[in-house]
Amino acid sequence: MTRLVIFDLDGTLYRGESPLPEARECVARLRAAGIQVAFLTNNSSYGRAEIGAKLRRLGFSAEDRECYGTSDEAAWTCREEAYRRVYVVGEPGLQRAIEGAGVEAVRDPEDDSTPCDAVVAGICREFSYRWLDSALQHLLRGAEFIATNPDPTYPLEGGRLSPGAGSIVSSLKTASNRDPLVLGKPEPRILHRILRDFEASPTETWVVGDRIDTDLEAGRRAGCGTWLTLTGVTSELPVGQAGGPNLASLVF
Ligand SMILES: [Mg+2]
Repeated sequence: MTRLVIFDLDGTLYRGESPLPEARECVARLRAAGIQVAFLTNNSSYGRAEIGAKLRRLGFSAEDRECYGTSDEAAWTCREEAYRRVYVVGEPGLQRAIEGAGVEAVRDPEDDSTPCDAVVAGICREFSYRWLDSALQHLLRGAEFIATNPDPTYPLEGGRLSPGAGSIVSSLKTASNRDPLVLGKPEPRILHRILRDFEASPTETWVVGDRIDTDLEAGRRAGCGTWLTLTGVTSELPVGQAGGPNLASLVF
């Protein structure tokens, strides 16, 4: 029996500001059947309130508590680890999320000396050599190393690809010769949190996404069913993989 369906967002429910075909209808149909719904993005620029607001603006039924992103996961992780101060290489949204969890977040490319318990790295469009150098000094002094997500690139409208969080994280890995704790997909960490929050078991849960190497891999590692939509980066359904051309055929 299916109790919970966890959707990827970009390429699965919408692209940019446009809902994908049958996506809103699919979410509504699942709710009408009594199935719980959650939303999970690797994007670290936004917290759950902003994710929920975007979904509602595009016409989806969604509550903030159903929305999960890597900036909130970073914030919850810092709180759970009882970090008092962390160094952020990322967007202002990541800093806000961490501060919202009651953890001091230093987001200053020039600050290489304030003692910090961890370096949290994500997408950072102002990234610079100075910022990399400062983060390295914190890591060399023993700060923990956390990466929001490993995505090498992310797609913009018009087909352009820009460097993603993984590109920033790789420079820190190379400089420090250390591997970070990775929060986002394909790691199953956030799926485990969603399963706990919704009190669902993996065997009652499906993960729906457009990327085999991140969305479906995270679902597989968490022991959930996986369903591939061909509205995003993947255009062909591998043999034996559940999925369809769009969410119209998602029926449980
Ligand atoms: Mg996607």
